[in-house]
Amino acid sequence: MSNQTTKVDPVMSTYSRFPITLSKGKGSYVWDDHEVKYLDYTSGLATCNLGHVPDVVYEQVKSQLNNLWHCSNLYHIPAQEKLAEKLVENSCGDQVFFCNSGAEANEAAIKLARKYAADHHGEHKKEIITFTNSFHGRTLATLSATGQAKIQHGFTPLLEGFRYLAYNDVEALKLVQPTTCAVMLELVQGEGGVVPADKEWLNQLVSICQANDILIIVDEIQTGMGRTGALFAYQQYEIEPDIITVAKGLGSGVPIGAMLAKEYVAKSFSPGTHGSTFGGNPVAATAGLATLTHLVESTVLDNAKEMSSYLMGGLAKLVEKYDDIEAVRGKGLMIGMVVKGNAIDYIHAAREKQILIVVAGPNVVRILPPLTTTKEEVDHFLVIMDQVFSA
Ligand SMILES: *Cc1c(COP(=O)(O)O)cnc(C)c1O
Repeated sequence: MSNQTTKVDPVMSTYSRFPITLSKGKGSYVWDDHEVKYLDYTSGLATCNLGHVPDVVYEQVKSQLNNLWHCSNLYHIPAQEKLAEKLVENSCGDQVFFCNSGAEANEAAIKLARKYAADHHGEHKKEIITFTNSFHGRTLATLSATGQAKIQHGFTPLLEGFRYLAYNDVEALKLVQPTTCAVMLELVQGEGGVVPADKEWLNQLVSICQANDILIIVDEIQTGMGRTGALFAYQQYEIEPDIITVAKGLGSGVPIGAMLAKEYVAKSFSPGTHGSTFGGNPVAATAGLATLTHLVESTVLDNAKEMSSYLMGGLAKLVEKYDDIEAVRGKGLMIGMVVKGNAIDYIHAAREKQILIVVAGPNVVRILPPLTTTKEEVDHFLVIMDQVFSA
């Protein structure tokens, strides 16, 4: 039916886009196509953790572009092997599988958990528990894992084998069963409203899992790569997941995802069980290696922690000053402001004052500064937010 008179947007409308076009970025700033400069406290949705176009990554990717772009995983890829080694050195994982996105990393985790269960237990132990308000991705398996009806709406039949329990609810933990093969969770729920896991609850969950041979999958797609002030959020909770998924911040904006697993679990993947054409290709792996190397060798994580307390301190003052702000929560530079009314209204008001932030659900303003942000930038951000809430 092509009788429309108005031109149809050639891009499918799966996102409601803001009315600006970004054409350049450097550090904490982006510029639109009219050269208007914005302070980007979205970091491309927790992806550009080292700021936009970081020199340390740019130089490495540029030289890789001169050599080899792609060769498939049928051959050894040095940058991929070094990146795997560095991820393993800096986490409790032993082996890494590379893919291209967060959803794919979680798909790999779901497959690995099921395969491990099949190898060690059999069909009676196949259930995966996830939590209400979680977000694990948009593919059929990962939206089935996601504990939010609005994300699943219209896409039934969902993948079988998932059960959702209330997050941070000690009572609900009684419903974990010996027939469960894995639990999958975010340690700070991102899309679900920037909700950190309660430490006591998490410890109880971990002991139930250990007692029942249930794998713990931590989805660090948003919390990983320094976002919460440690390289991985699980390190702050002092637990050891069996499987960890990462993506967003791993390549500084070059698409790459990864699933890390303990060796005893990873063994269930053998040649032919899983794969990805592009996963960990030379360009993406080079971006990942440069990003991770900088995160572990520079002082950027210290800066993230310092800027987190400075920003949280400033936001606490705004909570006291304005009734429209109910609370501030989060970890490191993954921060949510719970507001009265619609969070999106504040996001639009901030954008008009050249600050970019995003929502996390209907009533939470999500603030995701680059880990490299400065005190001056935080000061400027707080001045503008004060103006936004006073209006
Ligand atoms: C963004 C996100 C995903 C999905 O990542 P994509 O790269 O968009 O597929 C999964 N889990 C969490 C916690 C996320 O924040």
